[in-house]
Amino acid sequence: MRGLKLGVLSAVMLFASTTAQAQSNMDDVEIKATQLSERVYMLTGMGGNIGVYVGDDGVVMIDAQYKGLADKITAAIAKISEQPIRTLVNTHFHGDHTDGNAAFAKQGVKIVAHENVKTRLAANEKFEREGLPTITFDKSLEVKTGSTAVRLKHYPHGHTDGDVVVWFPSSNIIHAGDLFFVDRFPFIDLNAGGNVQGFIDNVRAVIADIDGDTQIIPGHGSLSKRSDWLRLVHMIEATREEVMTMKEQGMTEDEAVAKGLSEQWADWSWSFITEERWIRTLYK
Ligand SMILES: [Zn+2]
Repeated sequence: MRGLKLGVLSAVMLFASTTAQAQSNMDDVEIKATQLSERVYMLTGMGGNIGVYVGDDGVVMIDAQYKGLADKITAAIAKISEQPIRTLVNTHFHGDHTDGNAAFAKQGVKIVAHENVKTRLAANEKFEREGLPTITFDKSLEVKTGSTAVRLKHYPHGHTDGDVVVWFPSSNIIHAGDLFFVDRFPFIDLNAGGNVQGFIDNVRAVIADIDGDTQIIPGHGSLSKRSDWLRLVHMIEATREEVMTMKEQGMTEDEAVAKGLSEQWADWSWSFITEERWIRTLYK
């Protein structure tokens, strides 16, 4: 329950990441590390889940949560490995994954992201310049560390237009970014290149490349498996069907919201993506 509340809070803060209020909330946040394999860890705090890979010559971290948590995250990683953090990968541009970028860049960490992430962050004048990605790519990239490499692959137009899924080497573990919200309506950022069909297609494409034992670090929620991700896809397809039916019957967006989805989806609603917001996303 507590995990769920923190997750809810984190996404509500997507758009409030730079406010003083958000900053003061950071004091109570604990960064918790869970070891998933010899070299891979998942860190939770507030905001998108962080992945950590202990490479041969440094640490690669996936996503950075909020600036106000950077010291705590650095301390948590220092407990995992004595090696310096060399690289920070952003799974996409949203503030609950990138607000901490500048704090890590100032420690000499290289920031890697899809080129659309850099474009969107650069267009946000409130985003600290030091935190802009310095290494960008289009389709895929290998972040080498000694003899191993963390693999990044871009999936177009899903949650945003800059989504990256991360494959950790020598382990059956991936970081899915915000293509995976566990058991709650996902945020699909239609204003930033997100697309419902694209989201489904991308998740199915990744699922085809993993197996039932793959450990999946989701953008939001607890460590999951392929079957948990498929549940999300099925929910999206079924709720979209309901909304499309209403649309075909001539209902307006507001009328569809007023009618609502069938009762079986009630549990997927949460404070950031309520049933109303989810219906509006599907309708559009
Ligand atoms: Zn996001």
